[in-house]
Amino acid sequence: MIGEYAMQRGIKRRIKCTEPGNAPKVTLLSHKLAVDTPAFALGPGMQVTPLKEISKGGSSNSYSISFSNHLGTHVDAPNHFDPKGRRISSYGPENFIFSRPILFDLPKEESQLIRIEDLEQRAEVIEKADILLLRTGFQRYRRVDPKKYATRNPGISASGAEYIARSFPRLRAIGVDTISISAVEHREEGREAHRNLLRDRDYFIIEDMDLAQYPKNVGRILALPLFVEGIDSAPCTVIAELA
Ligand SMILES: [Zn+2]
Repeated sequence: MIGEYAMQRGIKRRIKCTEPGNAPKVTLLSHKLAVDTPAFALGPGMQVTPLKEISKGGSSNSYSISFSNHLGTHVDAPNHFDPKGRRISSYGPENFIFSRPILFDLPKEESQLIRIEDLEQRAEVIEKADILLLRTGFQRYRRVDPKKYATRNPGISASGAEYIARSFPRLRAIGVDTISISAVEHREEGREAHRNLLRDRDYFIIEDMDLAQYPKNVGRILALPLFVEGIDSAPCTVIAELA
């Protein structure tokens, strides 16, 4: 279509669809999915199986991929811990656009928990946000020590999660640079933290985010999940638009 229009107008150059033109500047805040993507507590990873391969005489390239819906950067929707809660595909795309993001550095080491004290002193700023990103720094182990990243991760305490849920009615989502808000070594407390955020409300938890290079001038954040029907949560691509 674009090529045809260009020809009618006597424009010689064919416009390629990959040219960004005046598109806003964006950066990824999610990890790419791969067969070596670390899985929470060393659970099952991703499998990629070729269905057709041109190099082996096939008419095209295509693959079968399989993975847990909680592998890699993903959105936990309420149904993850609340049987009456909404599933991921029941939301519209507008629910995953955030215009008032805020990021805090809360350095945490192995299996440490984010607690109320970590958040209280920043309450005035968090109050204004619609998405709160908590950067523990633990992401630095994701590549160099994926086993540690997947089994010794920091998390959010149950009371810290309850404090977030109770104190900041404008917040619609939180995101972390750890494999889960549940520290593997504090599993039951992690489950309670999830329940405190997801039960009886519309809320999203975005886990395993890439926050290492978070830019200073972030405008909006779009955290678009795969809209798969019949499941609680889904992998997502998170894009930050730069202001
Ligand atoms: Zn999850």
